[in-house]
Amino acid sequence: MMKMNIAEIIVDIPNAQVNRPFYYAIPTHLSNQVKKGSRVFVPFGTRLVQGIVISINIETAYSGKIREITSVLDDEPVLSEELLKLGEWMANHYFTFKTYVYEAMLPNALKSTYTKIFDWTQNPLDEALNLPKTFKQAEKDGTLKQLLDLNKEGWVKLFTKVEDQKHIKKQLFIRPTQSFNTYIKILEELAPRYRAQKRLIQALIDIVQSKHVKEMAQVDLIKTYDLSTAVIKKAAEKEWVTLFEKEVYRDPYKHYNGEIEQPFQLTEQQQKAFLPVKKALDTNQSIPFLLHGVTGSGKTELYLQWIQIVLKQNKTALMLVPEIALTPQMTQRFKRRFGNEVAVLHSGLSNGERFDEWRKISRGEAKVVVGARSSIFAPLKDIGIIILDEEHEASYQQSVNPHYHARDIALWRSRYHQCPVILGSATPSLESRARALKGVYHYLELTKRPTSYQLPKIELVDMRNEVMASSGHFSRALKTAIETRLNKQEQIVLLLNRRGYSSYVQCRTCGYVDMCPNCDISLTLHASDQSMKCHYCGHTTPIKRTCPSCQSKKMRTVGAGTQQIEKEIEQYFPSARTIRMDVDTTRRKGQHETLLKQFEAGEADILLGTQMIAKGLDYPNVTLVGVINADTSLNLPDFRAYEQTYQLLTQVSGRAGRGEKAGQVIIQTYNPDHYTIQTVKNQDYEGFFKREMHLRHQGDYPPYYYMTKLTISCPDESMALKEGYRIKKMIEQAKGNQTIVLGPSPQSVARINRVYYYQILVKYKELGGLDQILDEIAFSSQKHARKKLFIDIERNPQQFV
Ligand code: ADP
Ligand code: ZN
Ligand code: ZN
Repeated sequence: MMKMNIAEIIVDIPNAQVNRPFYYAIPTHLSNQVKKGSRVFVPFGTRLVQGIVISINIETAYSGKIREITSVLDDEPVLSEELLKLGEWMANHYFTFKTYVYEAMLPNALKSTYTKIFDWTQNPLDEALNLPKTFKQAEKDGTLKQLLDLNKEGWVKLFTKVEDQKHIKKQLFIRPTQSFNTYIKILEELAPRYRAQKRLIQALIDIVQSKHVKEMAQVDLIKTYDLSTAVIKKAAEKEWVTLFEKEVYRDPYKHYNGEIEQPFQLTEQQQKAFLPVKKALDTNQSIPFLLHGVTGSGKTELYLQWIQIVLKQNKTALMLVPEIALTPQMTQRFKRRFGNEVAVLHSGLSNGERFDEWRKISRGEAKVVVGARSSIFAPLKDIGIIILDEEHEASYQQSVNPHYHARDIALWRSRYHQCPVILGSATPSLESRARALKGVYHYLELTKRPTSYQLPKIELVDMRNEVMASSGHFSRALKTAIETRLNKQEQIVLLLNRRGYSSYVQCRTCGYVDMCPNCDISLTLHASDQSMKCHYCGHTTPIKRTCPSCQSKKMRTVGAGTQQIEKEIEQYFPSARTIRMDVDTTRRKGQHETLLKQFEAGEADILLGTQMIAKGLDYPNVTLVGVINADTSLNLPDFRAYEQTYQLLTQVSGRAGRGEKAGQVIIQTYNPDHYTIQTVKNQDYEGFFKREMHLRHQGDYPPYYYMTKLTISCPDESMALKEGYRIKKMIEQAKGNQTIVLGPSPQSVARINRVYYYQILVKYKELGGLDQILDEIAFSSQKHARKKLFIDIERNPQQFV
């Protein structure tokens, strides 16, 4: 064996038959640039693909033909030693491919695109075909078949072009070349009619005199001093200034210049929770903590103060929130405490903005990262603390392959960096609470709000008694409460629980429901554009006024949407100003934040919305929270349906009474005696936990059992089912005792977009030898790709509907 200039590379082809690296030679002219963690282009088959270098200068006995790396895409490696190692662990742990995992870690801007292109192999046969053109264009303009034929005959070639998407933004900058005195002289000598030039010289004098500013972006200079590019060009010719290009960041928070806020004096209870973590920070211990604090108890204040310590140690901090775009207040608090040391990553950023934030982090220019799920891979060095706020949220698990959970990754990185992890929540997941009981997590508790603020009082309204008396969807109690608050000019939050609930159209005469032709689900009414839409495949049709089955004209809407509730508000509370927040009103970038700002500024009395308003809002003038329908989510076919209902109702209740004024919560329900609703009313998490754990125990569900879900999908239903039984047999042969295999059974929506889905659930106490079988199944699935038969494996699945 000899040491050679060879690199091991994970190529960007998920369909490669094996989950292993490929060997490539490092050409001499690239030997300084190819590093561990670099992105490269390499030849694979007949085309170029992107790859990640996972090791270099390796020893190998491999004697086959070795091809050369074509090019290196970045000056510095994009994946650190740590993230490369983490990727290996993830691929194993989640039964998936390394290439998926590394892709999940990197910002979109670092993913290459592949385009299929037709071109002539020799002289053009037919100029009218307009080659080269892409496969997609050919599909569109109807020449695809002709081109494929020409391809067979050898006239036309079809190849894949790979392109790096990365775009580093550069701007033109201007720097003065002369001294203050010279500029004064130029200014005096310029004839009065050269007004623009005089303004430019004045600008240059300002810069020369300034202590901080040495140069200015051309765009800013032009705006501030009312100049034109022509004037600047002329000045450059006269050598009054130099022009040069400089890398700049696309910064979504550029205009943030809020004042820095000082930490609060911690309450006694906060102090008690604060100290154990401080100790772990001082002694570099990777301890996981569960911070269980009621809504508004000051969890965020603790996060901020722990991070303060970490920054003093010259380390970095990683703070995860379920969806940062939904919580502009959180971002603001972090910016106010730590200013420009904060980088914010969230789904609302453009690819370019996100990439720039990522680079700032990677270069050590930002030391605190606040972001959603995928930020768990932020390229921070020397991490001192990792925090998951609202740790119970299902969105911390990625719903597509790789199905990683941010909590697992947080724990892994905390061991790597020897730093504590904080899992914070007012309503911890049952798994985490159970782990804290067993001592796996260190338990910290905040039972009250700081200062004199009280948790709100929660009342239930039994909607069964309101059938005749209610005003639309408003019970008498909720209606009166809203009127009272409106009179006092206090604010109201109204939740329409959309989980397990949608509006559809049904024929009153024969019961016909408008179903999606591609999926086994009814179409949802969208009042905004008067259409019926499938939420799974996007199929859209006009609303039917006549029943296609019995020709009756009695088609009626079942289930209320936010728009209908908004209309009812107008009807029953004509003076109220309402802001409606749902997918329709928040689709555009930044709309969410704008609406919340309006509400915060008191421009509306009522904030009406879906789940998205339940979290994170902290407005002292909100004194009433109303839940229109508590129980739509109770009966979903998901063993976590009660848990998620408990969490949602508790979260939204927590929006009331966050200031001097006491808060009130009114929950409308058809199941007032259900223990989920009762424990929400009594703000009794432990009571809920006990009841729910009992149920999970009886049903052999998590946290008593681990669970892994295998989903087999195929447009051919019998093939999916056959594969399901084959897999089941494989698992049953390998399983130990205390393992239960359920299925294959149809998924809750069994057909989506004309593809059939079957599920197998494996419940187990210990994985034992099962992991090898699952690996085998995951990789065998590649063989079926041609038949469009896919197997997806999800460990600890979070959502079943
Ligand atoms: P949580 O994250 O648990 O919802 P927050 O940290 O947002 O709670 O705190 C709720 C409110 O109480 C915030 O307005 C916060 O500024 C305030 N607060 C937190 N800790 C203190 C404290 N020790 N003294 C005074 N006010 C505090
Ligand atoms: Zn009908
Ligand atoms: Zn559909």
